[in-house]
Amino acid sequence: MEQGKCIIVSAPSGAGKTTIVHHLLGCGLGLDFSVSATSRPRRGQEEDGKDYFFITAGEFRRRIAAGAFVEWEEVYPGRFYGTLRSEVERIWAAGQHPIFDVDVVGGLRLKDIFGARAFSIFVSPPTIEALEQRLQLRGTETPESLRTRMGKAAEELAYSVKYDHVLINDDMGQACREAYEAVRGFLQAP
Ligand code: 5GP
Repeated sequence: MEQGKCIIVSAPSGAGKTTIVHHLLGCGLGLDFSVSATSRPRRGQEEDGKDYFFITAGEFRRRIAAGAFVEWEEVYPGRFYGTLRSEVERIWAAGQHPIFDVDVVGGLRLKDIFGARAFSIFVSPPTIEALEQRLQLRGTETPESLRTRMGKAAEELAYSVKYDHVLINDDMGQACREAYEAVRGFLQAP
């Protein structure tokens, strides 16, 4: 299998990572979204096979044993998420570059695995208060899940220094432009 390049985008959830990933996908850079598998329930408008492959925790464990994942993680208790080997191979076989939307630990693991073939971006909220406000506005969190996510976010911010590029998301339009320039530069380099 001819290995191509890949793009890793990580952030504390609510930092605007998904919007940036969607923007990059629409820029004609030859990127394709690597659809992860997860055992968490489907939310709102999410589609199976497009946002995630939604599978049970039991099926997830079977696939771990079968070696189906490049990396996987129990991001929240009982909630598994993993990058599928089959997705990476499918995208490279089509001559494109996978883009991964993964948590901070998964992102660093993917960078370790793919090395110089990977460009890792950390999307950072301007402040931790701004992040809390965004999550509240999104309206998908219960008070308890908000507390869990905020606790995790504080830990995750400390990892930003290990990323190739830190993108401070103060203004979404500006962040999208900066992400585009950084990714284009990486993909054009030999
Ligand atoms: P959410 O439940 O909000 O969709 O995702 C929760 C977190 O899991 C996010 O930070 C998301 O990027 C991360 N995530 C999604 N897919 C994967 C994956 O395949 N591997 C890892 N390590 N994290 C993932």
